[in-house]
Amino acid sequence: TSEKETLGFQTEVKQLLNLMIHSLYSNKEIFLRELVSNASDAADKLRFLALENGDLYEGDAELKVRISADKDKGTVTIADNGIGMTRDEVISALGTIAKSGTAEFFKNLTGDQAKDSQLIGQFGVGFYSAFIVADKVTVRTRKAGETHAIEWESKGEGDYTLAEIEKDSRGTEIILHLRDDEKEFLDDFRLRGIVNKYSDHIAIPVEMYREPVPETEGPDGEKIEAQPGHWEVINKAEALWTRDKSEISDEEYQEFYKHVGHDWEEPLTWAHNKVEGKTEYTSLLYIPKRAPFDMYNRERQSGLKLYVQRVFIMDDAEQFMPSYLRFVKGLLDSNDLPLNVSREILQDNKITQTIRKGCTSRVLKMLDRMGKNKPEEYQTFWDEFGSVIKEGPAEDMANKEAIAKLLRFASTHTDEATQNVSLEQYIERMSEGQDKIYYVVADSFEAAKNSPHLEIFRKKGIEVLLLSDRVDEWMMSHLTEFQDKQFQSITRGDLDLGDLDDEESKKAQEESEKEVEGLLERIKTALGDKVKEVRFTHRLTESPACVVADEHDMSSQMIKLMESVGQ
Ligand code: ADP
Ligand code: MG
Repeated sequence: TSEKETLGFQTEVKQLLNLMIHSLYSNKEIFLRELVSNASDAADKLRFLALENGDLYEGDAELKVRISADKDKGTVTIADNGIGMTRDEVISALGTIAKSGTAEFFKNLTGDQAKDSQLIGQFGVGFYSAFIVADKVTVRTRKAGETHAIEWESKGEGDYTLAEIEKDSRGTEIILHLRDDEKEFLDDFRLRGIVNKYSDHIAIPVEMYREPVPETEGPDGEKIEAQPGHWEVINKAEALWTRDKSEISDEEYQEFYKHVGHDWEEPLTWAHNKVEGKTEYTSLLYIPKRAPFDMYNRERQSGLKLYVQRVFIMDDAEQFMPSYLRFVKGLLDSNDLPLNVSREILQDNKITQTIRKGCTSRVLKMLDRMGKNKPEEYQTFWDEFGSVIKEGPAEDMANKEAIAKLLRFASTHTDEATQNVSLEQYIERMSEGQDKIYYVVADSFEAAKNSPHLEIFRKKGIEVLLLSDRVDEWMMSHLTEFQDKQFQSITRGDLDLGDLDDEESKKAQEESEKEVEGLLERIKTALGDKVKEVRFTHRLTESPACVVADEHDMSSQMIKLMESVGQ
């Protein structure tokens, strides 16, 4: 054993620890779920590396996790024989938060505990949740194939210590020195209860020690045999997605989501499918309840967990989901991909393409179904992820119509900012003679709602979609029609209301047009180069004038968007 060395936590770790201890107090038993989940991930990672190098098993290929309590010492230990960590890995995994954008995220904390504790959900709780119940945590770990082992220890305040230790067994041991008022977790029965509740779906065995029972006599004097002490498997220890759908409860799906999704909230919905035929795979896809804090960060990792014939291959396989569905979490288990598949191989691969197509349409169908059957849940979804879905029409031509069905808009029907009008609803409400879907794009909802271009539509009672998200202009430039109805911006070109204009008003318009002929010329001379053209319009009923873009010119919002990305 070497000298102890003291290192400081990254600032964000301190903030996270503080937040966690105070905000998850009422939910403290989840620490065990998080640690068992990590042990299971560590087993997955070892099994993957051992595909290439069986020596890593060191003669012990039965991967498992063991939970034990020591009443005298007041400790609970979670020990696995998974991949383990090197010294450097310990420092980065247990001393920093590696996610990009973390610093900015923590800048947004308000200091108001109730508000901030909401934010922790977006972050995932993970290893540090150990400090909810422990005032000191010791981690002893040896990486598979290495001889050096390392001990990490911390009170969850500003720093931690590191020391080299002797450790024969491969893997990681987490020792929780329970706080005085958390001794309930020493109780065997309590621990088993938590594992049953949260970790039943974990695919490796979770074991607890059964104390020896001495030989006794039954009520009729018969002999009941002694039981030696032994490790007992207390979970199902079966990969959840391989089981039959009908045998899996909603609770099991939800707990499993927290494990694969590294989330601590329940998912909104999920789809579990076994696909048979030329390409065989199982997919289990979840829609989270909340957008991650870094959804727009380009470096953010996203994608599915990939398994090949039940063997974990990689996290964040982004090849199976288009970018506009990057919030989908879950896993994919392929029977056809080779076990030695790499990201490079996945890139240009027919099987990948087939699975991606299948998964994409699963997700679109699942969302469509939610939109129809559970509008309230769908609204939650839309409010969180709508702006990402709006990237869809540009990215995925083949599914344009299916994506358009998922879109929700604010509209003059309610004049409220909430985006809750679907195109199908819009079409149902269309006036007689109307053959276009009218919309206006502006910089803000208020600006859209008060656009002078709307006047004639309001007067005639024609619904107009009110768009004001940053991506809206971009999206509309890729959406040309829906169910054979053209989209028409009401601020563009020479708006022709077609059949919606009646004969009488057309005549009146022509007459008033003659009256102002001279005026148009004078305005044009006054504005000079600033405008392309000054035109008479029938669109306005109250405002005297408005600015319009030509049919094929960039709109003012598009110009701003291009400027903001440095074009
Ligand atoms: P996450 O599981 O979402 O990555 P955690 O906070 O739970 O986040 O864990 C942080 C990291 O610590 C893990 O990504 C892993 O690298 C490492 N780690 C934690 N527990 C173990 C373990 N039992 N064996 C090996 N590595 C572990
Ligand atoms: Mg974890």
